[in-house]
Amino acid sequence: MKNIVLLGSTGSIGKSTLEVVGKNQDRFRILGLSARSNLSLLLEQINRYFPEIVAVYDEEAAEKLKKKVNVKVLSGINGLIEIATHERADFVLSAIVGAAGLLPTLAAIKKGKTIGLANKEVLVIAGKIVMEEAKKNAVKIIPVDSEHSAVFQCLEKRNPFEIKRIILTASGGPFRGRSRKELLNVRAQEALKHPNWKMGAKITVDSATLMNKGFEVIEARWLFELPPERIDVVIHPESIIHSMVEFTDGTLIAQLSRPDMKAPIAYALSYPERLPDIVEPLDFDTLKKLTFEKPDRDAFPCLDLAYSAIKEGGTMPAVLNAANEIAVDAFLKETIGFNDIPSIIERVMQKHKKSPCNSIEEVLEVDRWARDEAEGLVRRIA
Ligand code: NAD
Ligand code: MG
Repeated sequence: MKNIVLLGSTGSIGKSTLEVVGKNQDRFRILGLSARSNLSLLLEQINRYFPEIVAVYDEEAAEKLKKKVNVKVLSGINGLIEIATHERADFVLSAIVGAAGLLPTLAAIKKGKTIGLANKEVLVIAGKIVMEEAKKNAVKIIPVDSEHSAVFQCLEKRNPFEIKRIILTASGGPFRGRSRKELLNVRAQEALKHPNWKMGAKITVDSATLMNKGFEVIEARWLFELPPERIDVVIHPESIIHSMVEFTDGTLIAQLSRPDMKAPIAYALSYPERLPDIVEPLDFDTLKKLTFEKPDRDAFPCLDLAYSAIKEGGTMPAVLNAANEIAVDAFLKETIGFNDIPSIIERVMQKHKKSPCNSIEEVLEVDRWARDEAEGLVRRIA
């Protein structure tokens, strides 16, 4: 029986994880659940999965929950860290959105927990530190992001010297095919209509700007130890091929399935085994064709901002992430326009003086600085 702590249980990944766990209760047990503040859903989950311990980031919400349930309720960032490092946790599924997941995930790694990583921002912000800690503590980080799960599966038992490049696929999001000018007045509502995936609001906007793919390039750089020059992106609107690896002999291995996050979640949970009947198999009679195109780097400059952040290295990716979190939040609140997202991020990056990213304190300080700068720019537009 694997004891699982689920960080971000009320989110899109969190809910899909609980579905997989619910169907495989002979293998997995929910030891801990955590959320920011959505008490009604968290209550339902507590009554269904009987965790021993729960962490609610929001202090007020945590106090309310304590009056309603008979389990140990923790709060704040320390509560998240405590649950992520629980001595009986075998596996921590990191599915908080954004920088908020960094410290709990890092704490779990330091305690030697196996990690299922959905929260890609953790590697964007502090990839070097996180991977060094993982190595030091012999921790396996199993990707949950569908592209990285695909690459992880394609690379199993391969000689790393035979890898030529990784090709990450991207759906292109709801605005694929539009020019920068045509994106000027798009609203949050439209950005939230992703063609293939149902996800949380922040990552859905990141998919629309292609920042999500940029983050995934950075995530792949750390997970698979390849330089960004050997990580490419191809638009594949059907989201059937989840990513590919090209080898030195010129051949490729790809991983395919219907677009359903339950597949990479289940694989991370049960690795190296596979669980039965997670997703409906592909039907090649109805599938007919798979198509590919180049990403439009002019209409979606966030992709190249991410490439330049990882090439520059040090704390620049942390700046990229922090400015993006502020800009996306402002776009969702309709304070700024869609094209303001890359402009704000670029300006904050230009102002940042490169530093090496040696400690988590340094990363957190840069994160705060970049948020302040981005907020200043948002105020000027608003
Ligand atoms: P979501 O917005 O649906 O859920 C986010 C979860 O994080 C919620 O449970 C929320 O309560 C929790 N949370 C937010 N802020 C918090 C805070 N300050 N403290 C504690 N908990 C907090 O997001 P999602 O779509 O499930 O995505 C989660 C992560 O997984 C993101 O990093 C995203 O990039 C990644 N991811 C998601 C998908 C997907 O299909 N949804 C696919 C690949 C990767
Ligand atoms: Mg992905």
